[in-house]
Amino acid sequence: VAERLEKFKTTIFTQMSMLAIKHGAINLGQGFPNFDGPDFVKEAAIQAINAGKNQYARGFGVPELNSAIAERFLKDSGLQVDPDKEVTVTSGCTEAIAATILGLINPGDEVILFAPFYDSYEATLSMAGANVKAITLRAPDFAVPLEELEAAVSKDTKAIMINTPHNPTGKMFTREELESIAALCKENDVLLFSDEVYDKLVFEADHISMASIPGMYERTVTMNSLGKTFSLTGWKIGWAIAPPHLTWGLRQAHSFLTFATCTPMQAAAAAALRAPDSYYDELKRDYSAKKAILLEGLEAAGFIVYPSSGTYYIMVDHTPFGFDSDVEFCEYLIREVGVCAIPPSVFYLDPEEGKKLVRFTFSKDEGTLRAAVERLKAKL
Ligand code: GLN
Repeated sequence: VAERLEKFKTTIFTQMSMLAIKHGAINLGQGFPNFDGPDFVKEAAIQAINAGKNQYARGFGVPELNSAIAERFLKDSGLQVDPDKEVTVTSGCTEAIAATILGLINPGDEVILFAPFYDSYEATLSMAGANVKAITLRAPDFAVPLEELEAAVSKDTKAIMINTPHNPTGKMFTREELESIAALCKENDVLLFSDEVYDKLVFEADHISMASIPGMYERTVTMNSLGKTFSLTGWKIGWAIAPPHLTWGLRQAHSFLTFATCTPMQAAAAAALRAPDSYYDELKRDYSAKKAILLEGLEAAGFIVYPSSGTYYIMVDHTPFGFDSDVEFCEYLIREVGVCAIPPSVFYLDPEEGKKLVRFTFSKDEGTLRAAVERLKAKL
């Protein structure tokens, strides 16, 4: 394996899902629904295939999807963007992240992440030869330590990457935090990469896009996808929204990474994004009920549970059970309790910082969540 990828192992999501299968554990690890996406979206894909929409798509997205993305972004963030010049369709948000980083970051450029961070950020930054710095968000509220961030940002900083709502903590960046980060970006001429794939899974406050903070659109790449919002994580439809000068860079990378994204699924994605507001309301209601089941179960089982206001994850502290590390605890949980979760130490530059924590997902049907909760209460 190339040196730039040597330190990265099989992703923790794959490792844990494989262990869960081997031991017959209920999988509350990898964040994907165990139920299907909506019929109207699946029907739209079947129709597109039958209508012969099966050859290469326009490289940066089929026109109807670029337009649907721009319309949704206007509705959600109040920003009017040009669907052909500022929206790029990618193969999942993971490709949007890769295209953004590879298209805009030079070897040696400094990029600041917030730990715990989604694993692909660090690996892709390594592929780009970037110099990664991380600022740690700490329990219980995972607030941004502003003074540490201020001390870290300098004229050498090329970009800051955020994820709100935040995987794996469930934290949402507050308006004050976004404004403070924005001020630092403007002062130091820093780009901002914002992964917002959980924007529709919010339970307390409304989601705020960094691009909507005054003066930020021109330096921000906003990334999102269909997977979480429409329970279609296997479709791998994502996108990046950015002003033309940033879009140009990320499209150069996208052209040579995948060239174009699956044509019929893009047609169906356009139909999905035009769903009425009632779809999103129902999604939130469903996930609120699921979250309540898992939350009650984790508390009753004896974890220290941290508040989660967005995403489909809950972060807990496992120290009441007396294990030395998150990995050891999660292995015990799979083998002896029959429940799979994610050990988050891989989401830190220094794994020690994550070793008391464990992430559970509630992206499963209520029966599965109840069965997992029964096991946690009975066997932990
Ligand atoms: N985003 C999902 C999670 O955090 C799954 C990621 C993956 O399997 N690569 O669990």
